Amino acid sequence: MKLTKGKINELLTQPGCEHNHNKEGQTKNKSCTQQAQPGSAQGGCAFDGASIALVPITDAAHLVHGSIACSGNSWNSRGSLSSGPMVYKMGFTTDLSENDVIFGGEKKLYKAIAEIIKKYNPAAIFVYSTCVTALIGDDLDAVCKAATNKYETPVIPVHAPGFVGSKNLGNRLGGEALLQHVVGTKEPPYITAYDINLIGEYNVAGEMWGVLPLFKKAGIRVLAKITGDARYEEVCTAHRAKLNVMICSKALINMATAMKERYNIPYIEESFYGIGDMNRCLRNIAAFFGDEALMVRVEEIIAEETAKLDVALAPYRERLKGKRMVLYTGGVKSWSIVSAAQDLGMEVVATSTKKSTEEDKARIKQLLGEDGIMLEKGSPEELLRVIEKTKADLLVAGGRNQYTALKARIPFLDINQERHHPYAGYVGMVEMARELDEAVHSPIWRQVRKAAPWEIWQQEHESLLNLEAE
Ligand code: SF4
Repeated sequence: MKLTKGKINELLTQPGCEHNHNKEGQTKNKSCTQQAQPGSAQGGCAFDGASIALVPITDAAHLVHGSIACSGNSWNSRGSLSSGPMVYKMGFTTDLSENDVIFGGEKKLYKAIAEIIKKYNPAAIFVYSTCVTALIGDDLDAVCKAATNKYETPVIPVHAPGFVGSKNLGNRLGGEALLQHVVGTKEPPYITAYDINLIGEYNVAGEMWGVLPLFKKAGIRVLAKITGDARYEEVCTAHRAKLNVMICSKALINMATAMKERYNIPYIEESFYGIGDMNRCLRNIAAFFGDEALMVRVEEIIAEETAKLDVALAPYRERLKGKRMVLYTGGVKSWSIVSAAQDLGMEVVATSTKKSTEEDKARIKQLLGEDGIMLEKGSPEELLRVIEKTKADLLVAGGRNQYTALKARIPFLDINQERHHPYAGYVGMVEMARELDEAVHSPIWRQVRKAAPWEIWQQEHESLLNLEAE
């Protein structure tokens, strides 16, 4: 794939994404097409984004062609879990030195690929370009092609050097690598009338394992998971699915739209968080297939699971009822977590709208009501101000916000990709309730909110002085 300015613009202005949708001139969201300036990008770079999208393919090796720092920057920072192969967890890098920058790193890359195949025999190797190797002009395509021919193992170039843009753009560039080199290269052993792909679900903390049994029970087969706990071969066969289900994120929307054009596979966007959303997801998939028997099975599963949930959640609902939450996360989670919290009887007093689409914002407004606060910016000062104003009982946000919660002396729960607990599906709902309960009722908060011994001494000392003065 040639990484031209045109290609980057195309990926940044996906028509299926509401951030761009129907917007022209002044109202068009500039951040969609604006590329990050070197040194000013917040969060991960494009290389980081591509590795987030592809590393969850667990039986593939992921080789970073660049300085060792790029590899260290992203390695193991996301908790995508595997039910089998572990080669995806190995940190492979060509570790370029000054000499390689001067004389080129292609030979070193070829040797690294050969060594990985010899020692680990992965199903495929994804080779990531980085700023350094893109700038010195190493020909990744040629090296990967030569290695594929020689070793008969697919070696796939991923052109997402950090300087081309943000993490989100990198996700899409990862998707482009799959579209160009992987999807459609193999046929599945068999197909069924109810084959679907899950796109944009990375099995963080093993979340997907709470949902897959539901599909199986309903008779819906997940042909390819793109890419949580995926095997390389299943992604190759994704073109035979009847429906693409995009999970909670528009990060890989380019895959969904391209597969619609190329293979005529329609897509829908769903969320696994909260009882209502999980129910809706199952119902929408069944409605897409339009099979009466499937719809009945789905309704039976929903009835059975929600009855079980009512029993399991009862003690937590009791303890969490009326607790006030400030939520700071992105995209669809900014409303899907609201409905999950409301399912538990909690009150969400503020939520972020930072990366939300117009559609997301409308849902947030409906869920939060008139008094709910919609946070456009989430600086620590702003969060502290909102926590103070709303007398919130806890902050639910990404890992980097935990210190803000500590400063405000309120409990914190990590809701983003670094979390260690699965919150998706019906089982995830119980897990989320347990975690919220433990956070809110941890005895540490009594200690934290107490005056420190020296503050007590100071108060006593001042009272004594006042008495003496009288
Ligand atoms: S690819 Fe570039 S921006 Fe990303 S970690 Fe490497 S040097 Fe930094």
